[in-house]
Amino acid sequence: MDPRAPTLSRFRAVLDVLAREYPETPSLLSHRSPFELLIGVILSAQTTDEQVNAVLPALFSRYPGPPELAAAVPAEVEKIIHSVGFFRRKALNIIGAAAHVRDVQGGTIPATMDELVRIPGVGRKSAGVILLHVYDKPAIIVDTHFGRVVRRLGYSDVRDPVRLERDVAAILPPELWNSASMRLNYHGRRYCFARKPACGNCPVAALCPSAGTSG
Ligand code: SF4
Repeated sequence: MDPRAPTLSRFRAVLDVLAREYPETPSLLSHRSPFELLIGVILSAQTTDEQVNAVLPALFSRYPGPPELAAAVPAEVEKIIHSVGFFRRKALNIIGAAAHVRDVQGGTIPATMDELVRIPGVGRKSAGVILLHVYDKPAIIVDTHFGRVVRRLGYSDVRDPVRLERDVAAILPPELWNSASMRLNYHGRRYCFARKPACGNCPVAALCPSAGTSG
């Protein structure tokens, strides 16, 4: 059989190699509580974690928890988060999320996908971040890095995140979802760049059908 065929055994081999490369894969969003991670992940849409981390200390020093942020004046929040982009919509989303957590969830961050995606500004990707990092529940987190690496490794050929998530779920058992989510994300940031991936130095090149062909 072609050693680069899209099999579970090859996927496991990729994850084993990446486990040595990335022994620790914490969230790159700074947070001290589930609430802070929730707000950080909402703000991280279409921007970098670094840009979000830069505004979080000022945001949480002014609005330390759901009651304070839920009662915030949008224009004041906008001033603090201006640099993360889409700041008007994001200000309304994080104020709405804080109000939802306070009023619907009794101040706690929910632990199911169905409940999480009802929070303003939270889609499946953000919900997956909470499930994985807060509750250690299985989640396939399809962000730009994960999707790109999955496609190059030959486990999906679609760009739509929901369909790509389905493709990965069809091959990987749930106990591997979290390690795959984080290791492929890290790998996309460190080697498998969108433009000019570093295939020459990539530790999984021997297992990758796209080695030397992208970018
Ligand atoms: S060999 Fe290249 S395309 Fe394949 S995972 Fe590594 S960096 Fe990405």
